[in-house]
Amino acid sequence: RVLIGNLIGEDHVNYVLMYNMLTGIRIGVSRCQAKMKRPLTDEDYTARHKFSFDIVGNELTPSARYDFKFKDYAPWVFRELREEHFHLDPADYLLSLTAKYILSELGSPGKSGSFFYFSRDYRFIIKTIHHNEHTFLRSILKQYHQHIKDNPHTLLSRFYGLHRVKLPHGRKIHFVIMNNLFPPHRDIHETYDLKGSTVGRLYPEEKAATNPRAVMKDNNWLRRNKTLELGPEKQALLTEQIRRDMEFLKSVNVMDYSLLIGIHHMQRGNRDNVRGQTLKVFSPDMPPMRRKPTQKANPSDAIAMRRAMRASDPKKLGAANSLKLPEEDSGDTQQFIFYQDESGFRATDEVNEPLDTIYYLGIIDILTPYTLVKKAEHFWKGLSADRHKISPVPAAEYGSRFFKFMQSIMRGGNREEFLDKEKQE
Ligand code: ATP
Ligand code: CA
Ligand code: CA
Repeated sequence: RVLIGNLIGEDHVNYVLMYNMLTGIRIGVSRCQAKMKRPLTDEDYTARHKFSFDIVGNELTPSARYDFKFKDYAPWVFRELREEHFHLDPADYLLSLTAKYILSELGSPGKSGSFFYFSRDYRFIIKTIHHNEHTFLRSILKQYHQHIKDNPHTLLSRFYGLHRVKLPHGRKIHFVIMNNLFPPHRDIHETYDLKGSTVGRLYPEEKAATNPRAVMKDNNWLRRNKTLELGPEKQALLTEQIRRDMEFLKSVNVMDYSLLIGIHHMQRGNRDNVRGQTLKVFSPDMPPMRRKPTQKANPSDAIAMRRAMRASDPKKLGAANSLKLPEEDSGDTQQFIFYQDESGFRATDEVNEPLDTIYYLGIIDILTPYTLVKKAEHFWKGLSADRHKISPVPAAEYGSRFFKFMQSIMRGGNREEFLDKEKQE
């Protein structure tokens, strides 16, 4: 197996930012983790803890290589989400995010200007977010938490932490830590980002033919006449969960989200995963689907990690960084219906017999409320195209259309309406 991505070494332009993000996470998370668990209060949802780092260090924060400020938002809420609902091992989490050569950068795959970084083991994604998205997540955190409690099998992005780094010249960078839907140990052979909109939702097929890592869109799915191959039970479960998640997003006025689908064909296996192709992997419109084997802490690493967490000593953490990397599943996904088969959801035939395809599914990009900005966009785009097909429509309309499209991609789904719209494009 080869390692891919732009590993961020000391000479990388974003090294300092990266170092600050990870140092902040390490200290913030281990601070909270070191305390006795207690029931959440209302204040926990709005809480923010400030840390000031400098090269000298003080009682609260150990010395760091650079001067910066760090804010940890609602640490107790995220701790509960991670431990009680997302079943992450605290030591594992910190280990993944603080291992030495840590992150690879995906640059900005979307139009939004966000940057994506992968933890070294590719289990976690750090996404930088706009200040509006940050404020919005804080404002719905309580509802989000409730939804996760009520829906242990939700497909929504799993947020593990919300933080901010402030650099000495004043620049503020907000970011979330979330689950990477795609597994470290499997090639993803096709990727679709589906919204239920047919306007501007085509990745050029000519380009897709030569780029196995293209993120394709709604019209590619329709043109290729794809179907999500699931037996009756799995199909019913998935449909119901999508409906509930969509209803939640509607209730908090969110739009513009997508169902991300990664497809792994078991017959093809991981054979693309060979040395020599590494260089092809990173171009701006390619998500890195090739992964390093899962880095799962072996027992002694975890012990070293716990000790270091207690001490919050970066040097000791450094020692916990030299890990063996066995090739295996990360284990924390097994209890979730849609992530139970090799961290994904395996295709089945009409009588629920397994087929040779694994789907990796999730609803992503869920922090855009239907704000004034979007309303303005709706107005201008609405002048030139059918108002109901374009992507910025009010949240209720967006949700209904999204759900209808997701029903249409299933076995026996009715896609006439979307095919008609697609033809008009
Ligand atoms: P825009 O607002 O323009 O859509 P964005 O910067 O908000 O862009 P996202 O839509 O969140 O970005 O993600 C862009 C792409 O990154 C997705 O289509 C997908 O390929 C990849 N991606 C995002 N989140 C995940 C995730 N949790 N797991 C795997 N891949 C992801
Ligand atoms: Ca998006
Ligand atoms: Ca976005």
